[in-house]
Amino acid sequence: MQGVVRTLAQRSIRPSQALRPSLYRTWPAIARYNSTTQGPRTPSSATPTTPTASAVNTEPNQSTQTKRRWSGLRITLLVAKYTGFLIGSAAVGVLLIGAGVFVHDAFTYSERHLDRVPVSPLALNPKRGGPKNLPIAEVTLEDEENEESIKIAGKPRLVIIGGGWGAIGLLKTLNPGDYHVTVIAPETFTTFTPLLPSAAVSTVQVRSLIEPIRKIIARVRGHFLNGYAVDLVMSEQLVEVETVASDGMKKRLYVPYDKLVIAVGSVSSTHGVPGLEHCFQLKTINDARNIKRRLFDNFETASLPTTTPEERKRLLTFVICGGGPTGVETAAEIYDLCQEDIVNYFPKICRKEVEIYVIQSRDHILNTYSESISKYAEQRFNRDGISVITNARVKEVWKDKVVYTIRAEEKDKDGKVVKVNKEVSVPSNFVLWSTGIAMNPFTRRVSDLLPNQVHKKAIEVDAHLRVVGAPLGTVYALGDAATIETSVVSHILELVDEADKDKDGRIDYNEWQIMVARIKKKIPMAGPHLEKVRDLFERYDIDHDDSLTINEVATLLAELGNKITSLPATAQVASQQGKYLGHKLSKIARKEAILAANGISSDVGDDVVSKPFHYRHLGSLAYIGNAAVFDYQGLSLMGGLAAMYAWRSIYWSEQVSSRTRALLMFDWVIRGIWGRDLSNI
Ligand SMILES: Cc1cc2nc3c(=O)[nH]c(=O)nc-3n(C[C@H](O)[C@H](O)[C@H](O)COP(=O)(O)OP(=O)(O)OC[C@H]3O[C@@H](n4cnc5c(N)ncnc54)[C@H](O)[C@@H]3O)c2cc1C
Repeated sequence: MQGVVRTLAQRSIRPSQALRPSLYRTWPAIARYNSTTQGPRTPSSATPTTPTASAVNTEPNQSTQTKRRWSGLRITLLVAKYTGFLIGSAAVGVLLIGAGVFVHDAFTYSERHLDRVPVSPLALNPKRGGPKNLPIAEVTLEDEENEESIKIAGKPRLVIIGGGWGAIGLLKTLNPGDYHVTVIAPETFTTFTPLLPSAAVSTVQVRSLIEPIRKIIARVRGHFLNGYAVDLVMSEQLVEVETVASDGMKKRLYVPYDKLVIAVGSVSSTHGVPGLEHCFQLKTINDARNIKRRLFDNFETASLPTTTPEERKRLLTFVICGGGPTGVETAAEIYDLCQEDIVNYFPKICRKEVEIYVIQSRDHILNTYSESISKYAEQRFNRDGISVITNARVKEVWKDKVVYTIRAEEKDKDGKVVKVNKEVSVPSNFVLWSTGIAMNPFTRRVSDLLPNQVHKKAIEVDAHLRVVGAPLGTVYALGDAATIETSVVSHILELVDEADKDKDGRIDYNEWQIMVARIKKKIPMAGPHLEKVRDLFERYDIDHDDSLTINEVATLLAELGNKITSLPATAQVASQQGKYLGHKLSKIARKEAILAANGISSDVGDDVVSKPFHYRHLGSLAYIGNAAVFDYQGLSLMGGLAAMYAWRSIYWSEQVSSRTRALLMFDWVIRGIWGRDLSNI
């Protein structure tokens, strides 16, 4: 206490002295200030040049110096004060976060014991039935858990097959409580497919691209069934599902539905090329894992002293068959991996020997994008040493090589230049097959069940996404599994019947206008081709009698159908279709009572409650190795790092959950600071 009083007393008399002992160690400026004000130790006072000058100049010099030193001290103290505040608040922040985590953990840990969970006996022992006398999952294990479950169990059954972009779009917009929802999928998670090429080379972790389906369906209190849909019994509204029991045995059951949504996506097309079993594909998380393992195995084996130069070359040759977005992005990611990590952590010869080939059957890579984008990507690849081989067709794939043919010019024996198919063989231990999509086996089965389904790559749906030929309002399909019908001529009879008001078997201009309105409603994608109504009428009125005969109408509709291009098989389309269907099904559920009161069957509810599906193209993106390209309604943007960040931001914002958003952010930061994970797991 005495010490404190003394210190304060000293401070009131000579602040500099009171501060001295503690601050000297840390604040040299204060130390300097004290030493100059206390004694004759400054050079000026110690060695005055002339007595007179010294006597005259010392006073004002000392006072200016003192002022300067005081202001220096004040600034130093201010900096010290705010640094103290900053450190203090950071410490308090860390403490608060720590306390928050502690409180969260304390309250989220549950010691709840579930003693008696009500489960329906029918859920435990389902009754059998259907054409194959299989168990029918009419009641689920969760249906009697609580009041809400019991209420939902009485709602119409909505069964969604698949857990990808389309299904998730639907689940996110469906109103909770409108349906008893069941999702059937062989994988327990949904995958963010656009970043699979990044995951395949470890730029991001595969875990950052997946979200468990059970978490997504919790919002609508849905049920999840882990299995494959293998068949459909439309007459009894049953889906046949194959599941795997704990002993590895396959078991089948039926899942009943009131409304069914087919969202099973697609599989890779093979084009009948032999040897595809030696190729990798990139459609699922497992594909990304397998690719990563092979890439790093190749680099490790190539680093062994026992590996021959020829074998090293083969191991470090990566062949991508297909110059679409997936192939191009994978090539770019492999290149990035080599440039950013292989060169630093593997023998330099491994980086030097790497060769990346992109084999494309068309004139350009990224041929669904604008020409300028294709050219930009090709130039970029050319600069990076990625070999782009266009107008080439893969003939066969062997375990150790790829054989392709390419149109080349050669001189014949008469010296004339002729085009020939030249066969080229590329030794490789990694071949990615990414050449387009084909029908999923389940979609093929459904298509085979319906006589009017003729499309080769997907199941045809109408503008309301109802499967053409299936009982109205019960079976829908979307995403890669579906294609919206573009054939207008197949509707000619009903179109003529509706438009031909005077029933004279000819369509005059007024009736043609009615027909145009009807076509736009039935097949909205025809809309842009029907803007010049009068022109079309006059062009196809071959006999110039101011009316269209049935033959003239048929020609017009057939040519109109040829102009309509199908929607692309993209996540953008699937997601928009899912969201559209989710909104619509909820509307139908809400308006069911009104529809029934007005004598309208819920089967035709789609036409009554909702407009047909309308696709809004938001642009196409592709990553091409430290650069990205965008294509939006004829506007092409391409660029380096800034474009890459824009590309990342778009994918980041499109994440299915905040959890994957956070994981992705960490992955990009970790890759930036510590590089990729170079292990082969
Ligand atoms: C590597 C890669 C990159 C891509 N990049 C882009 C991009 O940048 N932008 C873009 O718009 N699109 C992109 N796409 C395309 C996009 O992923 C697809 O168009 C989209 O996934 C289609 O959605 P979907 O719901 O129809 O099918 P998917 O998302 O493929 O989902 C199908 C679901 O059905 C399940 N399933 C399959 N068979 C059955 C069955 N018999 N029974 C039950 N469930 C089944 C699957 O497990 C899966 O859950 C990319 C695709 C790939 C492979």
